[in-house]
Amino acid sequence: MTILILGSGGREHTFAWKISQSPLCNKLLVAPGNSGTAAIAENVAISVTDFEAIKTLVLEHNIDMVVVGPEDPLVQGVHDFFLNDEKLKHVAVIGPEKAAAELEGSKEFAKEFLFRHNIPTAAYQSFNKSNVEDGYAFLETLTAPYVLKADGLAAGKGVLILNDLDEAKAELKAMLVDSKFGAASTKVVIEEFLDGIELSCFVLTDGKNYKVLPTAKDYKRIGEGDTGLNTGGMGAVSPVPFATDEFLEKIETRIVKPTIEGLLKDNLPYKGFVFIGLIKVGDDPMVIEYNVRMGDPETEVVLPRLKNDFVELLQAVANGTLNQIDLEIDERAATTVMTVSGGYPEAYEKGKEITGLEAIEDSIPFHAGADLKDGKVVTTGGRVLAMTSYGNTYQEAIKKSYQNIEKLHFDKMYYRKDIGFDL
Ligand code: AMP
Repeated sequence: MTILILGSGGREHTFAWKISQSPLCNKLLVAPGNSGTAAIAENVAISVTDFEAIKTLVLEHNIDMVVVGPEDPLVQGVHDFFLNDEKLKHVAVIGPEKAAAELEGSKEFAKEFLFRHNIPTAAYQSFNKSNVEDGYAFLETLTAPYVLKADGLAAGKGVLILNDLDEAKAELKAMLVDSKFGAASTKVVIEEFLDGIELSCFVLTDGKNYKVLPTAKDYKRIGEGDTGLNTGGMGAVSPVPFATDEFLEKIETRIVKPTIEGLLKDNLPYKGFVFIGLIKVGDDPMVIEYNVRMGDPETEVVLPRLKNDFVELLQAVANGTLNQIDLEIDERAATTVMTVSGGYPEAYEKGKEITGLEAIEDSIPFHAGADLKDGKVVTTGGRVLAMTSYGNTYQEAIKKSYQNIEKLHFDKMYYRKDIGFDL
C-alpha cells in the first residue's frame, strides 16, 4: 500500500515510525512532515488543510490510505471531501467525517452528545451574545472555581478556569461580546468544576466495533510540580498506574461503549481514533472532553506499546472489521519527555541546531518542531523533540529518557525534570 500521513508533529513521526515497520506499506508519504519523518518517509511540503493539493498528491502517487493526524482537517471535513469526489472515494481515510468531528469542533455539541447518551460529565449550560446576563446568573449559582469553555477550536487555549466570580463574569463578556477567541467564542459553555486526577483513554473504532488502546497520562503545565502556563504537553506515561482493572472496566462500560453506540444511534460516521479526556472523581471516571484524533505526546507512549501491525489495524478500521483483530499490548511501560524551545509556550526563537541525536541509545527520539535545513536538524517550533523509552517500570523508562536528553543540545533547550515523579 501507499500511505499518506497528514501532519508534522511528534504524533505524526510516531505514526510514520509504526507504519514504516509494516510489510503492508511499501511507500509512505508525510505532508508536511518534519526531520524525523524525512528519515523514514517522503515529506511533501503541503498544508494539512489544502484539500486540493492533497487531492493532486493522492492521485499522483496512487495513495491507498490517508491517516489524518491533527483535528483541523477533520473538523474542516477532509474525510467528506474524499467521499464526495469520484476519483478519491475509494481511498481509505482514517479520521471521522465532519459531522462526527464536531465532538471536538464544538464543546456544546459534545456536551449535548454526552447528556443524550447518559455518559457521565460535568453539568453545564451554554450561552451566546444575546444571553450574557443569563450567563452571569448561572455563574452565580456555581461555586468557584469557574470553568468557561469557548465552543469552537481555539488551539488548546479556549478553556479558562477562574477562582473569582467577577473575573469569571468579565471573561465571559470578553469571550462572547469582545470575541476574545474570535469565532470560537461565539458560544461559551460554562460547566461545573470537577476535582480529581486526569487521564486519557484512546479508542480506535470502525464506527461500530472498537478497541481500547493503552491509557496514558500527559503533563500539561510548563513548570515542574504542574505549575505555570498550559502547553501542548511536556511528557507522558503509559500505562497510568492508578487506572486499575476495575477502573478501566468502568471506563469501558460507562463511557467507551455508550460513546460508540451513541455515534451509531446519531448516525455520526466514525472511522478513526477517539481520544477521551477523563477525570477520576472519587472512584468514578467522568468525561472532560472528546478529541477526534490521537493526543500528542500521548501517541509517543501509546503506539510504542502496541505490538500489532499498525497498517493491518488501520485497514480493519477502514473495512469495518476491527472485531476480527485482537490487540497485543507490550507489558513494558513507556514514557516520553518533551524538550521545548526556551520561552515556550510564550515567545521563543526558532532555527537552533539540534546536536547529539547520533549518541542516543535505547530511546526513540520522536521529532516534533524540528526540520532539516542545509543538512542540519534545526528547531521549527515550541515543542521540539519527544524522547520515548521503554522500561520494566516507568521509573526505569523515565531514567533512560532523561539520560538520553542529556546528550541532546540546542540553544535554550528546556524540559521538565519531574515527568512521572508524582505517580
Ligand atoms: P478541555 O479542552 O475541555 O479538555 O479543557 C482543558 C483542561 O481544562 C482540561 O484538561 C482540564 O485540566 C481542565 N478542565 C476542563 N473542564 C474541567 C472541569 N469541568 N473541571 C475541572 N477541570 C476542567
